Amino acid sequence: MAANRVTVVGSFNVDHVWTAAALPRPGETLAGRYHSGPGGKGFNQAVASARAGASTSFVCALGADSGGQLARALAVADGIDLRDQPSDAPTGTAGIFVGSDGANSIVIGPGANAAMTPSFVDAQRAAMAESAVVLVQLESPVASITRALQLAGEAGATRMLNPAPANVEVPTELLALADLLTPNETEFAALLRRHGGDEVDAASLAALNDELLHTHCRRLLPHGTVVVTLGAAGCFVSHAPQDLRGDGLQHYRVAGEAAQAIDTTGAGDAFNGALAAALARDAQRPFAQQVKFANRYAAMSTENAGAAAAMPRLADVIGRFG
Ligand code: ATP
Repeated sequence: MAANRVTVVGSFNVDHVWTAAALPRPGETLAGRYHSGPGGKGFNQAVASARAGASTSFVCALGADSGGQLARALAVADGIDLRDQPSDAPTGTAGIFVGSDGANSIVIGPGANAAMTPSFVDAQRAAMAESAVVLVQLESPVASITRALQLAGEAGATRMLNPAPANVEVPTELLALADLLTPNETEFAALLRRHGGDEVDAASLAALNDELLHTHCRRLLPHGTVVVTLGAAGCFVSHAPQDLRGDGLQHYRVAGEAAQAIDTTGAGDAFNGALAAALARDAQRPFAQQVKFANRYAAMSTENAGAAAAMPRLADVIGRFG
């Protein structure tokens, strides 16, 4: 295992974004503005990890098309070690409609992302073996990300599961492999419904008292750390009793950083990539400080438009916060 190296296993999408005065109703045609750019939770997190200062490998599947070429060019630009499985399917895409109030509707065409195989992940075991942290999300086949966390465990890397998006079910076997789980409020509520036997309204999670939140987290991941991201409010951290990262504290909140947010798309990805990079850089630092860095990094990402393109660089974060 090498310090300061992260492997992200996940999705790359080309985001096609149409912004109009309102979201189109069924049967309606509207004129609006269009732009496209790189996205996909895996790629966003890999860019965040690399820009936050970690040597980063990104394991994904790409089509033989312009989307795949874009991914390769961007990986080179950010110094990311790209390990892509070539696919006959088109590179992943997302069609995103945004109304003037910021509300959005999204359709994802997983394309090549759905074709990443466990055996391709297996072939990347050297990258996992050299990484201090392996980070996965749920936009790739569950069997493939499960294999990634198994390999990470064999290599002694920290296994980080960002259980996003919320509509993908997390099998119990996958959850059991995670050392660190990082849901947002919606994802946390979905996990509790399936694995915790609790019905919790995502909108009221931030208002729950800390003891109750901690109890929910412990039920969900008895053996590991849970970080629930709470948007502008920052996040809630819950450690297992035996988790040395707790530094004596079992649970606490880390306040969000003030930001002039213009676009929060990818804030969760910024947080995950930055936290993985911070952990890879110095696992001995108190966990609360690592989370504080991730909060700062994610807050700054909301001040830029786009997803991967919005990720700040380490020097910018240090320049702003010291
Ligand atoms: P998204 O889906 O927009 O990518 P998410 O729902 O997965 O994000 P959030 O919990 O909304 O994740 O945000 C992740 C982190 O980003 C927060 O924990 C916080 O550090 C930061 N953040 C998000 N929104 C803001 C904001 N308005 N101001 C400051 N920081 C923010």
